[in-house]
Amino acid sequence: MAQLTDDCFAFSGPLLPLEEMERLIAERVTPVAETEQVPLLQARTRVVARDIVAPDHLPPFDNSAVDGYAVRHADLKTNDDTVLPVTGRLQAGSKDNVAVQPGSAVRIFTGAPMPQGADTAFMQEDVTVEGDRVTLPSGLKKGANMRHTGEDIAKGAVALPTGTVLDAQHIALAAALGLTQIEVRRQLRVAIFSTGDEVVEPGQTRGVSAIFDANRYLLAEMLDRLGMVVTDLGILDDDAAALSRAIEDAARTHDLVITSGGVSTGEADFVKVAVESIGKLVFWRVGIKPGRPVTMGTIDGAAFVGLPGNPVAVFVTFVRVVKPLLRRLGGASPRKLTALPVRSAFAYKKKTGRREYVRVSLRTRPNGEIEAVKHPQDGAGILTSLTQTDGLLELPEDITKIEAGDRVGFLPYAALLD
Ligand code: AMP
Ligand code: MG
Repeated sequence: MAQLTDDCFAFSGPLLPLEEMERLIAERVTPVAETEQVPLLQARTRVVARDIVAPDHLPPFDNSAVDGYAVRHADLKTNDDTVLPVTGRLQAGSKDNVAVQPGSAVRIFTGAPMPQGADTAFMQEDVTVEGDRVTLPSGLKKGANMRHTGEDIAKGAVALPTGTVLDAQHIALAAALGLTQIEVRRQLRVAIFSTGDEVVEPGQTRGVSAIFDANRYLLAEMLDRLGMVVTDLGILDDDAAALSRAIEDAARTHDLVITSGGVSTGEADFVKVAVESIGKLVFWRVGIKPGRPVTMGTIDGAAFVGLPGNPVAVFVTFVRVVKPLLRRLGGASPRKLTALPVRSAFAYKKKTGRREYVRVSLRTRPNGEIEAVKHPQDGAGILTSLTQTDGLLELPEDITKIEAGDRVGFLPYAALLD
């Protein structure tokens, strides 16, 4: 594969479009191959390594969806009430072999197996009962209020395809199918560093020109949510040789090494140089704002991403660059994020050729429409612009402005962090 050099994306040159970036990631990054069996309650965030096929029908037997009366639809009058004697009773879990005889009804409860011969259930709210007779109104369709064998998933069908990232609902499905373990790819090992002579650890003495490290905490939390095994390697000085050594060391024992800071074109921005000296640069300068100088490379089979220093740029590039990379590395299917349509409450100008992310809060207009209000501060270093908002507007590459009232795409933080 031809190595991209910085000539392609030189400072004044073009920016790598995000879609192209995702393609490059897919091309250059090989998913981890090792798999393991994990118990259901340890499977959240893990990636399904082999299609999970339903070993049985779900539900495994026809059963009632309501508390009411099970009947044979053929016994019902089409234009009048039908009165039937109630000849049996079935509760959920009942093992009784109850059949509904022609011209009779069986008292039934939600989840109880449908009695033999019954094909329809009435809700108890819809009928009147006198003694042991039930009066059933006309008009109910055959098959109503029951759950058919295999209607959720049929035996032999793929319940959870390879590449699924497991969450509570997937684990519930595996449990409903009677499974106790799932074969998943191994967890990814990710190392994180901060860089910068000015960056100090919270709790340490802060010199007059120093700032406390926010980025490692942001990264550690976001990675932990995704189920990564995180190694925190602390803060590195702006020293090219030390940086190269530390990144190279970490790359030996991790699938991905992430740094923040030191990727723009300042004199102390050594990260790109370091990657070029110890590995291969895959891309540098992406069409994304904030976060343009984000850098990716490979170092002896490990992946490397150099994020910008400003915390909001770290957040945005984590979501848009690191996450697709982690999915690819972890063997997960790519994820399509759908931005939700909302109205912009503000006018905004942007350059073409980059996708821009604007921090906004949502509010509801009197007409019920949801509109997005821009945070008053849009600096990439303003952490409160993340803590005081609900999510990001995603403005596409080709547009140059939005007007108040325009329809725009909104991505809630919760969806971005998953
Ligand atoms: P850089 O990309 O290294 O030029 O950093 C851009 C800005 O982000 C500078 O103002 C840095 O001080 C700031 N910054 C860098 N690393 C961190 C960090 N770990 N936590 C908070 N701010 C940082
Ligand atoms: Mg720096």
